[in-house]
Amino acid sequence: MEALQIECFPCRSDNFGVLLHDPETLLTASIDAPEELAVVAAAERRGWKISHIFTTHHHPDHVEANLALKERYGLSIIGPAAEAKKIPGIDRTVTDGSTFLFGSNPVKVIETPGHTAGHVCYHLPEAKLLFAADTLFALGCGRLFERPAADMWASLQKLAALPDETVVYFGHEYTLANARFALTVDPDNPRLLARHAEIEATRAAGRFTVPTTIGLEKETNPFLRAGDPGIRAVLGMEDATNEAVFAEIRRRKDHF
Ligand code: ZN
Ligand code: FE
Repeated sequence: MEALQIECFPCRSDNFGVLLHDPETLLTASIDAPEELAVVAAAERRGWKISHIFTTHHHPDHVEANLALKERYGLSIIGPAAEAKKIPGIDRTVTDGSTFLFGSNPVKVIETPGHTAGHVCYHLPEAKLLFAADTLFALGCGRLFERPAADMWASLQKLAALPDETVVYFGHEYTLANARFALTVDPDNPRLLARHAEIEATRAAGRFTVPTTIGLEKETNPFLRAGDPGIRAVLGMEDATNEAVFAEIRRRKDHF
């Protein structure tokens, strides 16, 4: 089986677009549709014709180009059943645990409520890929617009349970700000300190921090580390539940 190919590109102010291409069947999926011309340009760079959109959630910076791309390519739009009414042009709905084939690659849908009530991530277990959009960022997680912290904590635990080597593409380049915040709650984590320095160098060179891996996030992302004794000590929450610690970290980030 020939490996899937990925084209990831910045668009809008801080979004990432991602195209996933199967060289065997020539299928190409756009993960979300943030901006028509940026997505089309990325596809043309690679000579790919977009056949699908995998929608993660209903926010405008993820669905704005749905109808324009559908008209241009005649593509098929897959998205979360819970948000179907808010996803322009949706053809097929999925829910937690839904699986489908992209070429010969199984895709598994993981519902991750928190940022929005129906947000889904797309996991390709054989290719070891996760498209996490606005649920899990490098060193961050999405803001809680539609669900409480406990729900987001549970959602993030589903992602943390994936194999460490899973490669994660996410929705926004917020990583340097996330790293600065992470150091305020996890200041003595040597892996975080090293990663912060790497991120500063990457961004100073005009490069982007996508993708990451589940293993790296588990070691350095405070939103996955509510159980960590060092973070709990910094917060003075040694005896709190993981959900409460996570909620406090999220609250502090909102005001950072
Ligand atoms: Zn969003
Ligand atoms: Fe977004």
